[in-house]
Amino acid sequence: MQICPVGALTGATYRFRARPFDLVSTPSACEHCASGCDMRTDVRRGKTLRRLAGDDAQVNNEWNCDKGRWAFKYISQSDRITTPLVRDAQGVLREASWPEALAVAAAGLSVNRAAVLVGGRATAEDAYGYSKFARVALKTNDIDFRARPHSEEERSFLSSVVVGSSVTYSAIDKADHVVLLGFEAEEESPIVFLRLFKQVRKRGMKVTAVAPFATRANQKLKADVIKTTAGNEANEIINIAGLTNKSVILVGERLAESQGALSAARKIADSAGAHLAWIPRRAGERGALEAGAIGTLLPGGRPVTDSAARVDIQSAWGVSSLPTTVGHSTSEILDALHTGDIDSLLIGGVDPLDISRDAAKGLEKAFVVSLEIRKSQITELANVVLPVAAVAEKSGTFINWEGRARAFDTAIDTPNLRSDVRILSMLADEMGTPINLPTVESAAREMNSLGTWDGARVTFTPANAGSVSGETILSSWRLLLDAGSLQDGEANLAKTAHPSVAVISADRAGKLGVTNGDRVTISSNVGAITLPVEIADIDSKTVWIPRNSQSSRAIALLGAASGIEVSVVKA
Ligand code: SF4
Repeated sequence: MQICPVGALTGATYRFRARPFDLVSTPSACEHCASGCDMRTDVRRGKTLRRLAGDDAQVNNEWNCDKGRWAFKYISQSDRITTPLVRDAQGVLREASWPEALAVAAAGLSVNRAAVLVGGRATAEDAYGYSKFARVALKTNDIDFRARPHSEEERSFLSSVVVGSSVTYSAIDKADHVVLLGFEAEEESPIVFLRLFKQVRKRGMKVTAVAPFATRANQKLKADVIKTTAGNEANEIINIAGLTNKSVILVGERLAESQGALSAARKIADSAGAHLAWIPRRAGERGALEAGAIGTLLPGGRPVTDSAARVDIQSAWGVSSLPTTVGHSTSEILDALHTGDIDSLLIGGVDPLDISRDAAKGLEKAFVVSLEIRKSQITELANVVLPVAAVAEKSGTFINWEGRARAFDTAIDTPNLRSDVRILSMLADEMGTPINLPTVESAAREMNSLGTWDGARVTFTPANAGSVSGETILSSWRLLLDAGSLQDGEANLAKTAHPSVAVISADRAGKLGVTNGDRVTISSNVGAITLPVEIADIDSKTVWIPRNSQSSRAIALLGAASGIEVSVVKA
């Protein structure tokens, strides 16, 4: 549509709704994945009517994916929160003024031990606000941005190998060999896939993937697929040969779900001198790591346990001390809420069912302050809900997987909705422990002035290779178009999503007496999912399903997203 020279191709969402000269255009960055696409948002009378790909030769050229182009209506759904809410004595959430809501939130967070969870929607400035708020106002390193399955091995990997690193798209353009580990590029970071695909077509670049089966994308990339069972990746990765210092290893966030796999990836990268890059799925995760929204690091990769690094931050922040011990991870924080070791929680942009089936349970016992765009399972449990601006309604920066800053401007003016960092600054003032970040610009300035730490880094603690046992092991990942809430409100886009299927081997299909399209039920010890079958050349032990699609919500219905034993029977 964007490049159609005669305007014959049009989008149903935009068609006949405005003339180009009626629109106000704002340079933007896409909030939907870590590829970091440059965008343009076109607004008429306070409403986004369309988004177009910006032309950035170093990142997305003039392309973007369907999700980035069309998924923008989530901000105008009927469950949008526009006023603060406070839970009254009867347990009912009622509307409140900003001064009242901030006072109640400040009082609740000041009493006892508190922690912070911030999801992947946060901009770098917002994540910096959460990071500083945790240390200055709550005096804790109990903060984590990983609102998804995660591991201690991963935190060590991020804190030592990834923070401050820079592997760019141009390394892919020049690579002799790209290895994909726990990463389905076409679904999880489409412009990375496009850049890989270009090199495969142009010069036959070699691609190797460790995955349960040769997916559609792996076939397009003509990848050598090393078939593996979820949980067993490390044992395969360690044997990958033929890497050089021109090779690029791309690890997805899902590799954290397989013990020892990140350690194996680092080992093969080190021995060949190959580039190693981490590609999270969400747009905000790399920025949150750099901002220190994790229990091991202060901003700029400074270890929390390093006194010189703390002094650096103390003088910049004008505080006399900072917490000195490594903070809890997301799962530890959720457990501590459950046991009562942590009593209050500041949380923004987290869907508990992205983490675990029981993640919300601890929140029922705690004092919860939620910064949120729309109503959610968290806001239903929260004591105070503070409405925040969505990406189109604020300025900020995402840091993409390369570590490249992607700044964007406010496209829609909403005077009563503020960026998370501004609200955190108001809340810290109310608590009498100011963080002095009254604007997005002040947060960006302060964060940039800190720069990256040039002292000793966190030391990577490798983990031993894990292994799985069982007859049938679950594997899954998220599809680009799925049941994610940031796609809500766009029915035309939803219609283009891949249907949910269970991928099984021909051998298993034969034993079950099913063929393509027949239905099978996949059961764990907590629940079941029934889906049509797709037969593929898949690892014989594996059954693969979409992680978060219609009729296939793995964590909610099966209790885990991968690496668990399940049973498969004909439905
Ligand atoms: S590839 Fe990622 S960043 Fe680019 S438009 Fe699609 S979702 Fe957005």
